[in-house]
Amino acid sequence: MIPLFTFGQDRFDKVEIKSQQLSDNIYMLEGSGGNIAVLTGADGTLMIDSQFGELSEKIKSAISEIATGDIKYLVNTHWHGDHTGGNGNFNDAGATIVAHKNVRERISTDQVMKAFNREVKAKSENYWPEITFEEGMDLHLNGQDIMIVHADNAHTDGDAFVYFTQANVLHMGDVFFKDRFPFIDLGSGGTINGYIKAVQAALMITDSETQIIPGHGKLATQFDLINYHNMLTTMKSRVQHATAEGQTIDQMKTAGLDKSFETWGTGFIAPDSFINTIWTDLDREKQ
Ligand SMILES: [Zn+2]
Repeated sequence: MIPLFTFGQDRFDKVEIKSQQLSDNIYMLEGSGGNIAVLTGADGTLMIDSQFGELSEKIKSAISEIATGDIKYLVNTHWHGDHTGGNGNFNDAGATIVAHKNVRERISTDQVMKAFNREVKAKSENYWPEITFEEGMDLHLNGQDIMIVHADNAHTDGDAFVYFTQANVLHMGDVFFKDRFPFIDLGSGGTINGYIKAVQAALMITDSETQIIPGHGKLATQFDLINYHNMLTTMKSRVQHATAEGQTIDQMKTAGLDKSFETWGTGFIAPDSFINTIWTDLDREKQ
């Protein structure tokens, strides 16, 4: 999602880290922020995303209940603070951080979140990915061939999926908000077309048995992802048609373009915000 605004510690005191077992040695952890995946075994623990720094102790304790030994690798699906806020704490505890090269670039420099009119300061060096890739990379650990695949200009310009081949588990980061309109961070290189392409790539990797961990929301299946793809392509084409008919963005926001997808706009991203994102992105493409 996004690096949210300043929260008091109070907000985190109430958060519980819930863990769900997906295979012999793969778990999904929910708390506050992006969903975490954990792979355990004799080769060392690998985790995907680190939520907020205020939750690191709770996350460590949840991981210690399912795994022994230190956390060896922390893979980031993208740079947003609700997925990387714990990087410094886990790196200090010995984890090597792995991510797309643009995650390192954005996390190590001052950023502006245009959509929220908010500055995000550069993080200290212990937050920065130490191993970076461009197209992707493979890790071989604890009986899993792990494919890390970069998706171009989707939610941001540094997104990656992580696929555990033998277990048939896919973590999609924020290229998947289950049953909700997505936040697409146009200011960080995200695009609607790249986002749809990324979902199509994920559909190619998955089958009806795949367990899919979305960036936000409950554990999902390929069926959920097909519905998500349908929502994205339908909403995009409705905005295109409305544009072709000469509607202004304000008219579109009140025209009920979310018809049949009303429940998708009840989360963090309201219908008019998603319509605005699609319109803004397609309009700047014409420039
Ligand atoms: Zn995000």
